[in-house]
Amino acid sequence: VSEKQTLGFQAEVKQLLQLMIHSLYSNKEIFLRELVSNASDAADKLRFEAINNGALFENDPELKIKVAFDKAARTITISDNGIGMSRDEAISHLGTIAKSGTKEFFSKLSGDQQKDAALIGQFGVGFYSAFIIADKITVDTRRAGATATEGVRWESTGAGDFSIEAIDKASRGTDITLHLREGEDEYLSAWKLKSIIRKYSDHISLPIVMQKEEWDEEKKETVVKDEFETVNQASALWARSKSDISEEQYVEFYKHVSHDFEAPLTYTHNRVEGRSEYTQLLYVPSRAPFDLWDRNKRGGIKLYVKRVFIMDDAEQLMPVYLRFVKGVIDSSDLPLNVSREILQESRDVRVIREGSTKRVLGLLEELANSDDQAQKDKYASFWKEFGQVLKEGIGEDATNKERIAKLLRFASTSNDGDAQTVSFADYIGRMKEGQDKIYYATGETFAAAKNSPHLEIFRKKGVEVLLLTDRVDEWMLSFLQDFEGKELASVAKGGLDLGTLEDEAEKKQHEETETQFKDLVEKMKSALADKAKDVRVTFRLTDSPACLVADENELSGNLLRMLKAAGQ
Ligand code: ADP
Ligand code: MG
Repeated sequence: VSEKQTLGFQAEVKQLLQLMIHSLYSNKEIFLRELVSNASDAADKLRFEAINNGALFENDPELKIKVAFDKAARTITISDNGIGMSRDEAISHLGTIAKSGTKEFFSKLSGDQQKDAALIGQFGVGFYSAFIIADKITVDTRRAGATATEGVRWESTGAGDFSIEAIDKASRGTDITLHLREGEDEYLSAWKLKSIIRKYSDHISLPIVMQKEEWDEEKKETVVKDEFETVNQASALWARSKSDISEEQYVEFYKHVSHDFEAPLTYTHNRVEGRSEYTQLLYVPSRAPFDLWDRNKRGGIKLYVKRVFIMDDAEQLMPVYLRFVKGVIDSSDLPLNVSREILQESRDVRVIREGSTKRVLGLLEELANSDDQAQKDKYASFWKEFGQVLKEGIGEDATNKERIAKLLRFASTSNDGDAQTVSFADYIGRMKEGQDKIYYATGETFAAAKNSPHLEIFRKKGVEVLLLTDRVDEWMLSFLQDFEGKELASVAKGGLDLGTLEDEAEKKQHEETETQFKDLVEKMKSALADKAKDVRVTFRLTDSPACLVADENELSGNLLRMLKAAGQ
């Protein structure tokens, strides 16, 4: 089809465009960061495809990004010689949102502009952010390997639809032209554009070039020369030495690799030498993504081999329970033509994964164990966002189980609210004389756990009980029998043995009571024969008349309910 066609945006795109123009207006210069970021991704994709097909470089092997402006036409153009887009790709990539979590995002929109603005920041808007300053965008693109007649022009005013038509395009890649809205002329300045690029895109490893400007003494004005100059540092950020990288550059690089709009919580950057050589730059985000619980979600690590981009979401490089970590790993040992299948088998990859896991755990320990309140607060915030995921590590990573256990935080009867702030070490520090176990109660909700009749005797004795009510808790507990030699004991299981917390007088009294109620217990046993395995006199209650308990070696009530709900 060569004639021009008009197509509608996906409904979510329309919604996003409207929302974004209002909510991101105060931060509109980020449009350039987003377009440069996409151009850089396009170059990475080309380099990767070209590993097996060198012809894709055509006769233009030097990848770069060009930023230009035209004062008279009031346009800014961002060009790249990356992978480009076919007609179908332009339609789907620039007309729909493929991002995972999109559904959840739109269902969370409240109509309250301020709240929605905060959400949209988390979601990220990418290409569409250019509509904040442009009332029309023209995208001319040609996919690498296609012929010059297979170019595509995509054009839209951002209202509700876009047009698509075939064009001739000699050069490979994408030119994005922004037709500026009334009042946005401040961007028609080399100085302005350069300063935005340096601020947000200095970490981009390709050269970002602009035409040189020079003062003309005769004309008494600056004239644009035919020469180009590189505006950014144009080297891979992770390969630079730490001392040459500013905090801002680390943050902007994070936004680029993660497609997140918010700064990360913390990061670690290391060059590892020895048996396996690689560089890791790993970030912990501030906030959990919408699709944290999506089973199909891959990790957030970009794999490079000697600076060449190999793949996004290389899930083999991070264990599943650290799937929220974002960043780059650049290996010196892996072959360039490495595939996901090879990654699965590779010994080098296993070494990298183990090393990266240790780094991330170390990063979290630094926050958790810091004396600095700001760092501690960061850990609390991390725990709120990702604690439930980290708990999966107890079952998944036997090697690091002890380290992970130290990072766990729980709600507890020592706190008023449901905040998960108590560590095992805190608990042990408060244990009573003679107490040798760590007691916990599980429940479907915090209220249920907190009001459990099983807690009565513990309250009476002033013994602290951890309250575990996250979905993963029961599963996690099946891998965690003790912590530093102290057995973990459910308050709801078996014959409650409070050990030396019970004094001799109490024990004697209990025995007497048991004999006294022997007949009653026998009667109840036969009456409940098909409903209860056993009936016992209990001393664990102080206010409630009776409660159900699970056998010592049985699944707990809560886990049974969970399994039933899951149809097992
Ligand atoms: P994201 O970068 O998070 O995927 P964007 O909205 O920024 O989202 O971009 C949407 C998609 O459009 C990209 O994933 C890519 O497939 C395509 N795209 C955007 N800009 C370019 C470009 N310069 N070259 C090739 N493809 C591009
Ligand atoms: Mg993008």
